[in-house]
Amino acid sequence: MSSRIILIGPPGAGKGTQAARLSEALGVPAISTGDIFRANVKGETELGKLAKRYMDAGEYVPDEVTNSMVADRLGQDDAADGFLLDGYPRTTAQVEELDRMLAAEDKAIDHVVELTADTDEVVARLLARAQTEGRSDDSEDVIRHRLDVYEEQTQPLTDIYRSRGLLRQVDGLGDVDEITERILSAIR
Ligand code: AMP
Repeated sequence: MSSRIILIGPPGAGKGTQAARLSEALGVPAISTGDIFRANVKGETELGKLAKRYMDAGEYVPDEVTNSMVADRLGQDDAADGFLLDGYPRTTAQVEELDRMLAAEDKAIDHVVELTADTDEVVARLLARAQTEGRSDDSEDVIRHRLDVYEEQTQPLTDIYRSRGLLRQVDGLGDVDEITERILSAIR
């Protein structure tokens, strides 16, 4: 079974948690653009300095920057036979760029899993995460803004992937193990 999977969903829907579990179950790397940005911020790289401004404001990092970072990552050996993308693509321009990257290698996405969760629930989860992880983009104002940006720029991607027959919608609320099972059965 080839596994080139995109995980899409609002901030706080549990993408990161599920990506780690699915990565193990499917034997493919989980690639999180948010994690790569955060590692760069921590390491105070040029990319990190640039990304931080956008991340702290709850805005998306510009497409050219994000796309070239993903192209590098997908070019690494461990992603040759499959991957799970967590948090990319997030804009229609990123969809187009990912299409180009994959087409150049004669590859294609197999499934797009949308984790659904209602707004009040994700806000509550993100506020709880702010307490435990202290992420600088988890204040209530920034959280609300990130949800607006998601709705405006990323939610429309589900229509694109639905029209390609790739969208699998999975309820992201409930027991973590059950959600993993729901996703696995949606892509089998
Ligand atoms: P996440 O951990 O996926 O919630 O991402 C945290 C932040 O990193 C986002 O709010 C954006 O500022 C930035 N980011 C992550 N992925 C992308 C992407 N695909 N395009 C633009 N910005 C991104």
